[in-house]
Amino acid sequence: MLAEEKVHTLITAHSQADHFRLAALHRYHILDTPACEDFSFLTELAAKICGVPYAFISLVDAERVWIKSCAGMQLGELPRGQSYCSLAVQGEAYTEIPDLTRDARTAQMPLTLEAPHMRMYSSVALTSSDGHAIGALCVMDTKTGGLTPEQRGTLVKLGRQVMALIELRANEKTLEATVRELELLATTDELTGLHNRRSLLHRLKFEVARARRFRSPLSAVMIDLDHFKKVNDDHGHAVGDQVLIQLGRLLRENVRVIDIPGRYGGEELCVILPNTPLDGACKFAEALRQKIEAQVHYAGARPLRITASLGVGAFDHMDINDADALLQQADAALYRAKHGGRNRVECGA
Ligand code: GH3
Ligand code: MG
Ligand code: MG
Repeated sequence: MLAEEKVHTLITAHSQADHFRLAALHRYHILDTPACEDFSFLTELAAKICGVPYAFISLVDAERVWIKSCAGMQLGELPRGQSYCSLAVQGEAYTEIPDLTRDARTAQMPLTLEAPHMRMYSSVALTSSDGHAIGALCVMDTKTGGLTPEQRGTLVKLGRQVMALIELRANEKTLEATVRELELLATTDELTGLHNRRSLLHRLKFEVARARRFRSPLSAVMIDLDHFKKVNDDHGHAVGDQVLIQLGRLLRENVRVIDIPGRYGGEELCVILPNTPLDGACKFAEALRQKIEAQVHYAGARPLRITASLGVGAFDHMDINDADALLQQADAALYRAKHGGRNRVECGA
């Protein structure tokens, strides 16, 4: 192999290793996170135990070294080429440079040449669970020298504690995201993307309590599709499902952020309108009825129109009984709408 090819192969192998190392680092989602006391405590402890003024927890990113925590000196980040820690992730688990001015790799670095004129560097690599050095816990001094074997041993143990803390924080984040995802799954109706019945009733209870507390009006609109059974019978259940999906979208797009649109049951939808009196809710319901009527669905290539009957219930803050009473009022109004000929809105008790 030619010398040039050899160098190229080496560089490729190195950048590939760095690629996996970076992937490991990024999995922890720790870069650019705010300062936190637990990390500061470990950094200060490292400086104290090693009897030096400076200690850092550094994470070696693609182009920069980002400092998670520092003792003795404020540092945010450094270009990778200006940080001693970029060396710590390349070689052994433990790196010690007793005189930074005498090492060709560090003699020209700004921290060596300029204030505070660092002279000694000692670090332990922070190793991910899959074996990649993602950064370092390091201590530095403006005097040359090195750590005692005992200090080194303790620094290694502290490095493990730092890594355990990084793992813990990452796991907490994953857990939080999973809980959020599960919450969303548990409260969303799969077909329509609206609140499911349980979530709708839960939110309604909350809104009733709030309406009482702040003396604000509260309304609910019940929506039942007209002759929906016939849609299924004539065009198949899949077409019926498609209609419900479209209606879910229509509802989501036509409510305010504070409103709560949900699927109460099969083809019965419901919207809770906080801070809305009866007349406002009736206007909303009438506008919604017109939009449902105007929406075009398709059974294959054949256009299909659907109508709905709507019932509105409302409570003034003075006479709020409970959530059930509000829904019963909306349901009674809906019953009147059905019996009055469908495709219409009926309001109030
Ligand atoms: P109307 O309300 O106007 O009196 O008539 P309707 O035919 O809509 O009345 P009904 O409440 O008796 O029937 C509701 C139908 O809705 C029955 C059921 O097959 C259909 N349905 C309920 N849930 C779903 C669903 O998730 N998907 C589909 N495709 N159909 C559903
Ligand atoms: Mg029904
Ligand atoms: Mg119906």
